[in-house]
Amino acid sequence: MDQICIKRLEVFAKHGVLPEENALGQKFLISVTMYCDTKKAGTSDAIADSVNYAEVSALLERETQTNVFHLLEKLAWHLARKILLTYPQIKKVDLEIEKPWAPVLLPMETVSVKISRFWNTAYLSIGSNMGDKKENLIQAIRLLEADEETTVIRQSAFIQTEPYGYTDQDEFLNGALELQTLRSPEELLELIGQIEQKLKRERVIHWGPRTIDLDIILFNDEVIQTEKLTIPHVEMAKRMFVLEPLCEIAPYAVHPVYHKTVTELKEQLERGVLV
Ligand code: ADP
Ligand code: MG
Repeated sequence: MDQICIKRLEVFAKHGVLPEENALGQKFLISVTMYCDTKKAGTSDAIADSVNYAEVSALLERETQTNVFHLLEKLAWHLARKILLTYPQIKKVDLEIEKPWAPVLLPMETVSVKISRFWNTAYLSIGSNMGDKKENLIQAIRLLEADEETTVIRQSAFIQTEPYGYTDQDEFLNGALELQTLRSPEELLELIGQIEQKLKRERVIHWGPRTIDLDIILFNDEVIQTEKLTIPHVEMAKRMFVLEPLCEIAPYAVHPVYHKTVTELKEQLERGVLV
């Protein structure tokens, strides 16, 4: 992807762990690489079609001077996040902050923190089988949208499905969503947990009735296995109520372990083949 770069923007500011640093201030050098498609601006020759680096530089200076953080890590994420939230055409940011006068008390040229942040693509499965099911799904989508770091990009139709697992319960309304998010997988799990709680999810019977269930199905092409989180979702290839809506919005998304598209997984399940 194309890059727009700002190298070693000099800002005098007060970040640091030591009180002297917060009082006296020192020099910070900020370098940014912004990844975006410049083809349109390359054709039109209009600044409105691009990202104005003077404007970004002013934003970096302002945000660096109006905050005081202990860590360069915190400042780096604060700045990268601001850029990604302010300029939707920027998909990814590499950002380095150097602190040449850092109180290291040894000879050195500079210290720095360098991070890379981008909009993640996640697919969620959503379902409800209690109360006003459609309203529950709509509310869940609203609450996802209300998160500043998350945008719902695509939404499938809602489909009625038979209960899975514990079968003595009402039928479900299911759907799938494509999200763009700055949250990590763990932070996204935290958000969907909060939404489930807000919508008063019942957790009486495992796989039993619930006002709302939100599951992370895919997160970029990441494979994650922790105590709290399994991505891709461990049951996705066995659940038609996940694959059918997902196939509508992301037929060619690839399962990073099976190396099969959602369409292939769905056809496989229709034929009764389990991966
Ligand atoms: P299920 O979704 O299988 O019906 P729950 O919604 O009750 O079951 O999920 C229970 C736990 O599953 C959650 O507390 C969460 O920590 C864990 N979990 C593991 N992987 C995922 C994932 N990919 N998406 C959502 N929850 C997950
Ligand atoms: Mg769940």
